[in-house]
Amino acid sequence: MILPEGIRAITEPRDMAAYLQGVRGETGRSPAVLLPETTEQVAQCLRHLQSTETPYVAQSGNTGLVGASVPDDTGDQVVLSLSRLRDTFEVDLANRSMRVSAGFRLSEVNDRLAEHGLFFPIDLGSDPMIGGMVATNTGGARFLRYGDVRRNTLGLTVVAEGEVLRLGSPVRKDNTGPDWKQIHIGSCGWFGTITEAILNLEPLVTEQATALVVPSSDTAMLTLLRHLETRVGPLLSAFEFMSRAAMAHSFHHAASLKNPFARGEIPETALLIELSRPTKAPWDTPLEEILEAVLAEAWELVDAPIEDALFGRPEEIWALRHALSEGVKSAGPLIAFDLGFTRDKVIAFRTEMARKIAADFPMMEICDFGHLGDGGLHFNLVKTDGPVEAGFEQALRDYVVEQAVTGFGGSFSAEHGIGPKNIKYLETSPVHLPLSTRDYGNRPPSGHAFNMGG
Ligand SMILES: Cc1cc2nc3c(=O)[nH]c(=O)nc-3n(C[C@H](O)[C@H](O)[C@H](O)COP(=O)(O)OP(=O)(O)OC[C@H]3O[C@@H](n4cnc5c(N)ncnc54)[C@H](O)[C@@H]3O)c2cc1C
Repeated sequence: MILPEGIRAITEPRDMAAYLQGVRGETGRSPAVLLPETTEQVAQCLRHLQSTETPYVAQSGNTGLVGASVPDDTGDQVVLSLSRLRDTFEVDLANRSMRVSAGFRLSEVNDRLAEHGLFFPIDLGSDPMIGGMVATNTGGARFLRYGDVRRNTLGLTVVAEGEVLRLGSPVRKDNTGPDWKQIHIGSCGWFGTITEAILNLEPLVTEQATALVVPSSDTAMLTLLRHLETRVGPLLSAFEFMSRAAMAHSFHHAASLKNPFARGEIPETALLIELSRPTKAPWDTPLEEILEAVLAEAWELVDAPIEDALFGRPEEIWALRHALSEGVKSAGPLIAFDLGFTRDKVIAFRTEMARKIAADFPMMEICDFGHLGDGGLHFNLVKTDGPVEAGFEQALRDYVVEQAVTGFGGSFSAEHGIGPKNIKYLETSPVHLPLSTRDYGNRPPSGHAFNMGG
């Protein structure tokens, strides 16, 4: 293929390998990886790809979980890597915001912000780049307190239709018209390529208290969540649940992970509950005491929602939560769903699916976990009796999505975005697509990748 002039590119198959493989094992082929270093170079690449009618896939950290950041196996799709976009890193302390190029990794952003006592408050078990985070609207484990990327994005620079657009600004209060940047957040690059973001920052957390709680039943989890929200309000920063199967596979997979449960007996479900705050005045009661007190109160409630509570070092407890994704992946062929519900429906869906999967797909083990505080459910199914055939996987995907969307009014894509694994449900979802993608006129043309910039 003819490459755009003056843009770094990789065409050697051996050097391209890392760009062609996704974290869930998906692999593709590509004639070239383009590595623009500035917004103007991205615009140049996109104009070139458009004029030569070359399909492409935008890629940032390549940690996405729906197969959307790697090319398909046609060998036609160019990879537009945004990982070299690193020319801007400006912190505005007075405004508690930053302007940052899309190619910075989250860990790097937070390492640099630490010296100012600030951080970008999206927390997850992978290390994505800012552009990919905006494109997928990453949620993460502290959504309950800080919201998602959308809630923390003030402005964007985007290349769309070959033009550079600057949308929004560091000004937090601005109602001079529609908020055009929103169309680019969480839409996986369909309407443009993100090259820079202006982000809200939060003061670093200096005090944390964490507990692993064994709920007395599934419905008790919600009773406990509401109790905590009423009693400690904004101090509550995480309320995550983990199923026994997901925890068991993680302990097995990560030998260094400590099993904190009495006699090593993993409960049916465990909750990770965290209180945190950025500052602690001398007269404030320590968070550990507050957490112990509110959980003790919960013990006294009618139908006590707690069976057991373990207090420990936050790093150790979070290590278990962050190990789940890889632990489940190591257990066997995995068919993963990223579902979103109202909070009560998370519990109802889990209960119903435990029954239905056992009856209709007995070879699948449910290894779920999720962010109960925001209704996010990582509904993972591991096949226990050998490889998964494509037809079987599709039938199972259709079945679960139908149950989640039609049966429980949920979303089939809570925080991981849209890609080859779930795009077909956009066409049929009554809940999430009042207008079909076709009505917007922005659906990727057949044979093209998921990005429409250029
Ligand atoms: C262990 C593990 C744990 C995870 N936990 C969570 C979690 O808790 N919450 C969560 O939300 N996600 C989670 N993820 C998923 C993933 O990390 C996020 O979706 C992440 O935000 C993707 O960012 P990325 O930079 O890796 O993007 P990529 O994977 O490179 O790309 C993701 C999508 O965005 C598009 N894209 C990338 N860059 C741009 C750009 N600059 N402009 C336009 N489009 C672009 C791509 O084409 C693709 O469609 C997890 C992943 C792993 C492996």
